[in-house]
Amino acid sequence: MKIFECSTIDIAPTISRLLKIPMVPSSGRPIPEVENYATEKGCKKAVIIVVDSLGYSLYRHFSPVMRNLTEFAEKGLLFKCKSQANITSPAIASIFTGYLPEEHKIYSTADIYSERAKDSENPKLKSIMEWAYKAGMKASVVIESEGAGSFRGRIKDFYGVPDSEDILDYDRQITEYSLLAIKEKPDILALHLRALDRFSHRAESWKEMKQAAKAVDENLGEIFQNVEKGTIFFICGDHAVHGGKKWLKDAGEEERENHKQNFVALIAGCI
Ligand SMILES: [Zn+2]
Repeated sequence: MKIFECSTIDIAPTISRLLKIPMVPSSGRPIPEVENYATEKGCKKAVIIVVDSLGYSLYRHFSPVMRNLTEFAEKGLLFKCKSQANITSPAIASIFTGYLPEEHKIYSTADIYSERAKDSENPKLKSIMEWAYKAGMKASVVIESEGAGSFRGRIKDFYGVPDSEDILDYDRQITEYSLLAIKEKPDILALHLRALDRFSHRAESWKEMKQAAKAVDENLGEIFQNVEKGTIFFICGDHAVHGGKKWLKDAGEEERENHKQNFVALIAGCI
């Protein structure tokens, strides 16, 4: 299987190109391999799934466990994708907007509001979902409640799930709301699964981490089964896994390098 390289800021401009969503050109560039693939398959809708902490090496490690995702990657494209931040908020903002953290300046949810207060139409703060909504398309977002609130007045369909101590249940709720959102036939949907990240902070063993990977994979499988044909998925990590000391104990040279470079997995594929 051929492995391509890209940056997380390329995802938004790629979707803009594929779905013909007008946006001010961002710092990322449309990924040619995805363009060719999607044109051939005729994908007309897009789903972004941020799998928190799905570093490139972690994906390789769990690919025998994450059967749904691995089978999906085998039929689609796998990228070793450079993430632009090593914490969640700026990393996801880069995925959604196509800009580097030093450009969008979103380091926390609060920053979204304070940066918009300076210039509410700043293109560097606009997610691809907002560009789609602005162009008259249907855009949905399913994320943690506070983040979801920042979409108020910017897109119509946003679903928030309150943060929870039970992160497996949290991800289940994200998945359930995503399935509801899919029934409304959005042109673009974005959601964020967090179990792997939470487990990476709290778990002490690979056995526990494996439980999270399996749960994420089951949620992905259910979403795959319920989307309309002609939907392209962008499934990607936001940053390499936290707790490098713990998880890299027995890692090889290549894994350490991938971790250091903050490479995440990006899987693009059509259903
Ligand atoms: Zn994260």
